[in-house]
Amino acid sequence: MRTQTYLFLQKLKCPKCGRILAGGATHKVKNDKWYFYYRCEDCKNNIKENKIEEAIMHILNDVFEYDSVVNEFFLPVLKNKLENPKDELEEEIKKLNNKKKRLKEGFVNGLFTIEEVKEETEKLDNLIKDLEEKIISNQQAEQLNFTVDDILLKRDMDYINKIKLPLTYHAFEECWPDLDRDDKADIVMRYIDDIELEEINNMYVVKKVNFRSTFYEDFKMLFNQGYIDCKREMIIEFNGIQTSVPVRYSEFTSIKDIMQNFYRLNECYEVNLYKGTFYKDTEKLDIGPILKDEVPVRIFPLQKNNNGDNNWLSMGMLATKNNPNDIKVNIRDVFETIPDNVTEEDF
Ligand SMILES: [Zn+2]
Repeated sequence: MRTQTYLFLQKLKCPKCGRILAGGATHKVKNDKWYFYYRCEDCKNNIKENKIEEAIMHILNDVFEYDSVVNEFFLPVLKNKLENPKDELEEEIKKLNNKKKRLKEGFVNGLFTIEEVKEETEKLDNLIKDLEEKIISNQQAEQLNFTVDDILLKRDMDYINKIKLPLTYHAFEECWPDLDRDDKADIVMRYIDDIELEEINNMYVVKKVNFRSTFYEDFKMLFNQGYIDCKREMIIEFNGIQTSVPVRYSEFTSIKDIMQNFYRLNECYEVNLYKGTFYKDTEKLDIGPILKDEVPVRIFPLQKNNNGDNNWLSMGMLATKNNPNDIKVNIRDVFETIPDNVTEEDF
């Protein structure tokens, strides 16, 4: 009987023979813990589950963050807004009310008994109640008033919170290691197509993670339009020092959107906007000078379509200090709310 949840079941193939690896578990009495592994029945080789998890922890964390911001928080609301099913729901209610009327007429004309009418009316009333509740919950969702721009703002804030308040961040926000096995398995199932393994020194190790195409498409759509960031390795020169670091990068949105995001962040923290030049041949970004203790929050082009020029591109960078001293609102607020849109006069 299979009672255990395997995180990567059906996601792993034997690098030798291509067979799907089977899950196995052993129980250690000493510390009352289960240990999970995957093995090839033919090649008799195996890989421990925690080795896979450790190897791709940063990817799993990223996917989980994406899931909690985009899927759980924004997509349902955005979908709701796009579909706006209120008219259809109201039409449906009207039809059901007409049915009720016809039932009563049927009773008057002797077609139905009083019991039949009662029973049917009750069923119709329940359906109407469900539809009315749907309309109300849709209205509440609309009042939340999220837009796609808020995805980036929320992700910027999460990132800044992590920089400024690492301990509080982990207390407020769930991270991959906090999830239980069922939730982990659910994320893996929803986002990951398969994980490629390779054999090195008679050991199976992770080579590459392939995502499901639906995730790629959703992500690509949001990314191309500048609504979501992804990590990008970049050579940056600030204050005369050149470093190659993975930074959060997002595509061009309008200058108005960039400023809106910048001002909204500044409602909560001291965030600075820098302008620099990205050289296309060396892929080096020249920017700054930045302040002491400042770290980049996100980098993005300030010009449309990668600039027409072959040599360079104007880039913007948001940066903030890596300490909590400049937080302007209650700590709880930076975790649980996002600041309102800023009007033109506040610019
Ligand atoms: Zn095999």
